[in-house]
Amino acid sequence: SLLLLDKFDNNSLPPSSFIPSDPRIKSEHCPGCGAKFQTRDRSKPVVTEEWQESVTSERSFLSYLKKKDDAIIITVVDIFDFPGTLLEHLDELIGTKNPNILVANKSDLLPKDFNETRIKLWLRTISEKLGFKNIHDVFLTSAKKNWRIQELSETIAAIRSGFDDIYLIGCANVGKSELINSFLRNTVEEGWRHKVTSSPIPGTTIGMIGLPLTLFGTTFGYNPKGFHFPQESKYLYDTPGIINKKQLVNLLNEDELKMVIPQKMIKPLTYYIFPGKSLFLGGLARIDYVEGDKPIRITIFSRLNPHVTSIRRADEMCQSMAVGDKTFLEPPIINSVKRRIEPFPPLVRGIKRHALKGLRGTTMSLKDIVFSGIGWASFGGSYERAIIDVWSPNGTGIYFRDKPL
Ligand code: GDP
Repeated sequence: SLLLLDKFDNNSLPPSSFIPSDPRIKSEHCPGCGAKFQTRDRSKPVVTEEWQESVTSERSFLSYLKKKDDAIIITVVDIFDFPGTLLEHLDELIGTKNPNILVANKSDLLPKDFNETRIKLWLRTISEKLGFKNIHDVFLTSAKKNWRIQELSETIAAIRSGFDDIYLIGCANVGKSELINSFLRNTVEEGWRHKVTSSPIPGTTIGMIGLPLTLFGTTFGYNPKGFHFPQESKYLYDTPGIINKKQLVNLLNEDELKMVIPQKMIKPLTYYIFPGKSLFLGGLARIDYVEGDKPIRITIFSRLNPHVTSIRRADEMCQSMAVGDKTFLEPPIINSVKRRIEPFPPLVRGIKRHALKGLRGTTMSLKDIVFSGIGWASFGGSYERAIIDVWSPNGTGIYFRDKPL
């Protein structure tokens, strides 16, 4: 989320220029939801609590974008929490006239040697399955490390007619502010170096904030030395981070988030699991090898610690967690003093008796099970058939991926 701009090493742009000055926003009321803006005090955000409440309802905000037909929409998702961070039915919500670019961010967390083409294909396939078909292009970025930011800006520059605003949309915490920072860093002109602050806790977003495109120098194809400024009154909008109920991170408190969100590149860990065994990822995910002929190989890509035990013992541990007894499987941190929005849901079998097909004599990974927001497990080994159960909080957020990354 974008909170406020700090650090001006350029005096030519006073802080007030970051208050949205789009005429629609000057109109005291939000054109999307009717909430009142505050415009008297320039040192304070334009958006009020009223607006903040109304924009967290995703429809009111997105219906505003639906009415527009001169916008470039950049939909940002977190590659580590995909498809959990993809809003469903985006095509319907934002209309089909505006070019739409899907940006999967935080790729620096992926294990090294990831296959970019394959990941992009997977992103596109799943997005289309979830009703998001109108995708102009897909990028796998790291805002933090500036990966693919140049290519992304060039693509935006190429499709902008010079008259379009740019909207960044996405769930809270996918890295929209960080992306803005990387666009600012990408600016070729010296002296155009600003920074926006971002917050690590989801749900702290305030309303839509417009940054004049001129601030980005040459990033989106603007020539600061030119005589006319077609984009002078055009903006890059950091839109409210929509709180997506599907996101697992919404169930966690601050301390738990720190345990789940990877800080650096994920190192895979491989286990051979026998029938009758269960593998936990902290207390957030569980895979049971219910029936089979041979051990299966499970490679875990997650920040959370795997723990292997018997299925019987795993059932006992889940029962303890359900009645609020502390176990060493964390997160969730049972009886945490930190605030949690809702009580932590129990682990539920989201996938029952799934038959994994193996391939004798091969060591290839044949299938991934993705726990959106937690990580994924890659399955392989020379078994012929293996029956597994897969558990997650409330049984949600589990996805199959046929071509492992
Ligand atoms: P927003 O809510 O969508 O604006 O997200 P922020 O930009 O505030 O970022 C949310 C969290 O993700 C922060 O802790 C960022 O440091 C982190 N983050 C953002 N972009 C990246 C990235 O490319 N790589 C990694 N590893 N972390 C990122």
